[in-house]
Amino acid sequence: MNISELIKKKLESNQTVLTEFESKNLLKEIGIPIPEQELAISKEETVSIAKRIGFPVVLKLMAEDIVHKSDSGAVKLNIKNEEETTKAYDELMKIPSQNEKSISVQKMASEPITELIIGMTTDAQFGPALMFGIGGILVELLEDVSFRIAPITEYDAREQIHEIKGFPILDGYRGKPKADIDAIVNVLLKISDLVTEHEEINEMDLNPVFIYEKGLICVDARIILKKPEKKD
Ligand code: ADP
Ligand code: MG
Repeated sequence: MNISELIKKKLESNQTVLTEFESKNLLKEIGIPIPEQELAISKEETVSIAKRIGFPVVLKLMAEDIVHKSDSGAVKLNIKNEEETTKAYDELMKIPSQNEKSISVQKMASEPITELIIGMTTDAQFGPALMFGIGGILVELLEDVSFRIAPITEYDAREQIHEIKGFPILDGYRGKPKADIDAIVNVLLKISDLVTEHEEINEMDLNPVFIYEKGLICVDARIILKKPEKKD
């Protein structure tokens, strides 16, 4: 299914929030790397998908009313074998939810140089604004983020990355390897294109994106569509 069709289908069923699974599939469509992922609805299926993807895997409980997954205990990281898979599955299924539950089985991504946050919010006056920051306390406590109004150029993207105070963390701080800045530029440009082409998108949150010396991978994402204006 292409992106326009996916957005149309969601809005027709009166839904504006894409699940993590749907959001990451959409990112994959536009060439942003994500860990291999598949949905399961039973214990047997969870185990067989985990084995096919290959350990270590991550299990996450997907349900409409679970938004901050780790706060609800809905993320089980670094599952190394079949026994741990069934144990994690049982624990996830005990988490209360009013909605339909499924399990997202995904490949465990390796330790990054740092986590990034890349997002988009719609400004009432200026339209889509792209946000960039380094994850964790830098974003939460210090609000060390930079913004640009879309569409952006490659120059804008590079400037946006360089202007955060935490930039040295990406530039080989304390002997750590230098992060792949080109890969970040690429993601910012792809999101800029996406939101320029699809005005139905109201909000995007890639949190976190794992950045490496070579490449990056988005391990969690949330896309929210605009409520369609009522036609009389
Ligand atoms: P939340 O809804 O709480 O934001 P996330 O899906 O972001 O849940 O998972 C919480 C944390 O677990 C992430 O910030 C990341 O550090 C880690 N994580 C999530 N998915 C993966 C993955 N596939 N591989 C490695 N680490 C992951
Ligand atoms: Mg997250």
